[in-house]
Amino acid sequence: MSEEKDSLLEEEKKDDEYEKICYICHRPESKTGKMIELMNQITVCPDCLQKSFDSMSQMDTGSYQELMELSKKFPNMQMIHLSDIPEEIPKRQRIKKRKEKKEPQKAFDIKSIPAPHKIKAGLDEYVIGQEYAKKVISVGVYNHYKRVATGTMDEIEIEKSNMLMIGPTGCGKTYLVKTLAKLLDVPLAIADATSLTEAGYIGDDIESVVSKLLAAADNDVERAEQGIIFIDEIDKIAKKKNTNQRDVSGEAVQQGMLKLLEGSDVEVPVGANSKNAMVPLETVNTRNILFICGGAFPGLEDIIKERLNKQASIGFRADLRDKYDNDPTILEKVTNEDIRSFGMIPEFIGRLPIIFTMQGLTKEMLVKILKEPKNAILKQYQKLLALDEVQLEFDEDALDVIAERALEKKTGARALRAIIEEIMLDIMYEIPKDDNIGKVTITREYIEHTGGPQITLRGDLVVYG
Ligand code: ADP
Repeated sequence: MSEEKDSLLEEEKKDDEYEKICYICHRPESKTGKMIELMNQITVCPDCLQKSFDSMSQMDTGSYQELMELSKKFPNMQMIHLSDIPEEIPKRQRIKKRKEKKEPQKAFDIKSIPAPHKIKAGLDEYVIGQEYAKKVISVGVYNHYKRVATGTMDEIEIEKSNMLMIGPTGCGKTYLVKTLAKLLDVPLAIADATSLTEAGYIGDDIESVVSKLLAAADNDVERAEQGIIFIDEIDKIAKKKNTNQRDVSGEAVQQGMLKLLEGSDVEVPVGANSKNAMVPLETVNTRNILFICGGAFPGLEDIIKERLNKQASIGFRADLRDKYDNDPTILEKVTNEDIRSFGMIPEFIGRLPIIFTMQGLTKEMLVKILKEPKNAILKQYQKLLALDEVQLEFDEDALDVIAERALEKKTGARALRAIIEEIMLDIMYEIPKDDNIGKVTITREYIEHTGGPQITLRGDLVVYG
């Protein structure tokens, strides 16, 4: 009984962290002043209540007919129909209250932001390779949150550390950002630039990314204002060349994003993707939100090569013309100019001061990805089988074949999971059948369908399948 009471109290306490919303004008209590509670958690703000009273007092409410007649004369008056009132306002549409500010509150104590080398060490546990990218992102994030914590906006303004990440598909761009947000315990919203369009067109309008972040922060505006927004496939909103049509998903989206990247107040719907009369709105300031854009930028290498070759053909360096044709590090030589030639507008690039590249994954990196990260795929399967008290091993040869197959698919590390899942299906199906099995070793032959896995029974007897 008392447990039930406790959980009710707990629930009430949690509810207390959310703002009350006016049922009529949808503004939150922080804007309207103290709400008046009606029933079923329905609340109305003093302004709307006053307006309702004013309208009522103008009527001579003699009979029902008279009331109906009068209400026709006041088309702007809102009538609440009791039957329309929902039992409860959906939780996802509620706004968490802002914490009261005693003195200028610092969410991140400057001492508690891990130093760049510590952030990188955290990333190292999950993300294989990409040393340069991890270093750049660690320093960028450290500076960003230092800026947030100190609020150095007045004297020497530290530039916002928004980033642009360039790298082939499946090399870990999204994964790097996800890991970062987890390490720093900040909310993260991931959006796809291809789904964004200029406001008023079919698709999500640009501000919907902020709405997503607010949802990721449990509708807690303060937390959202210090979160990270990752916009993937940013190369897909490059300016379209030679087109007469109105460019609603390319240049216009870049234009529309400028204000967000820089920092502005955005009114976003709470718990929904679009603004409409039924959802409450909340203002989120994007000044301290870290924007990271990522994309594969296909064809960028050719643009860089062309530029370098042009430079090389001037004067004495003419003999170096073909020097860059087989250069695997060509992408690292990218400049703002190249990205502009690709189709990003200068104002947009200007708001992403940190630009860095990530490498395509090699076979060796893929093998490492299989076994080394903290939550590596192999470790996950090993843990699953360990629950049946069966040990799982992979021969180095077997891992090589898996990595080679993944490379062929040209989708980076993304192909690994599908390949492993296919290999492991039979194993996961057959092994629990026999209690005597103590260890399974996946061999190259098994993967190439020329043999079976190596099975070791609990009595240490080796059996070839
Ligand atoms: P993209 O670069 O296209 O955003 P993702 O980050 O989505 O690629 O990578 C897909 C998956 O591949 C990730 O979820 C992660 O498990 C794995 N992965 C990719 N790159 C790495 C890496 N460098 N280290 C560890 N895992 C990686």
